[in-house]
Amino acid sequence: MLKNTLSAIHTNFQGKSIKRKIVVFQSDDWGTIRTPKSKPVRDFIQKNRFDANPFLNFDTLETESDLNCLFEVLSQSCDYIGNNPIFTTNHVVGNPDFKRIESANFEEYFFESTLDTYRSLNSTNQMDSFWRQGISNKLISPEFHSREHVDFILWLTQLKKGNLKVKEAFDLGFWGIPLDANIFKNQNLMATYDSFNQSNKQDYLNSISEGIAMFNAQFGKFPTSFIPNNYIFPLSLIEELASFNIDSMQGMKYIYLPKEGKNIPREQKRRINGQQEIPNSRIISLVRNVQFEPTLFNNKLKTLNLCLNQIKWAFLFGKPAIIDTHRLNYVSGLSEVNRDENLKLLKQLINEIIKKWPEVEFESTENLSKLYKV
Ligand SMILES: [Zn+2]
Repeated sequence: MLKNTLSAIHTNFQGKSIKRKIVVFQSDDWGTIRTPKSKPVRDFIQKNRFDANPFLNFDTLETESDLNCLFEVLSQSCDYIGNNPIFTTNHVVGNPDFKRIESANFEEYFFESTLDTYRSLNSTNQMDSFWRQGISNKLISPEFHSREHVDFILWLTQLKKGNLKVKEAFDLGFWGIPLDANIFKNQNLMATYDSFNQSNKQDYLNSISEGIAMFNAQFGKFPTSFIPNNYIFPLSLIEELASFNIDSMQGMKYIYLPKEGKNIPREQKRRINGQQEIPNSRIISLVRNVQFEPTLFNNKLKTLNLCLNQIKWAFLFGKPAIIDTHRLNYVSGLSEVNRDENLKLLKQLINEIIKKWPEVEFESTENLSKLYKV
């Protein structure tokens, strides 16, 4: 408890205060394949004992029914002004094109749009209109996570080298497996920007600019906020994001920097709510100071109470409560119980928030960054 309190104080004591009690939900990973729903994938995960990782057990492409169920819960409650809770859904707008990558002998990375992935894996053309319905009902506000949720440089290198496990996952239509910790230190195939260095800067610039164009094609609007995969991002690309009119960067209290080939421990940089992400930038930092990740913890009631406690600390310091809550909590493809239990808990959380803080206001990330800019 003392550790939690000290951590809450450390996260919240610095930065600009906002007198209003604002709650923002930020939810990453929408649109990425992560773990496909199939018996051979399940067998592979179990055989290799990867099933301790909740993302490999529960995180998979969202369905129409998942969006319906989430929207239903969000639409059942509102703050005193009449606003429903609104999820900032952070989107991955593309997935690897496995066939073309293999045809090119893993020499080049190819991708498809997430709308195509919905068509091939969920056999539906309707996801687009479901998302737009959520936007027009002000239940979700989409923002940009990445063009793909894979470190495509590391991935192709391992496929070319003949890494058997990585190839086996590739053949099954996914990539996010743990790498041998002795060889790869803390590298993670999911961390898109981790292989960044000066020589491949253009590949990453393309990934960002094409991703933002695909985002616009999918939602009919440009993103205003960005959240780097696995909280790893090079500072030298932040101004490139600014050139796409991104106003805020989401993340935790630290951002982690790619090592750019150097054999050094990973550098981290402290982030403060409402301050510029780097000096003189239009992009401000938004720091998540509350966690609601019931799938990651066994004790659901404890998760709820911890979350309410973190909101209390945010408000005590005059900060918005920015709730980190990933997609894996709300998808049913690998476990319907997972989605249904967590949605019940989400409903309980929203009701408790309204009861404890009747003056609370639910806001999107876009509006929160506007409040910090005035
Ligand atoms: Zn992510």
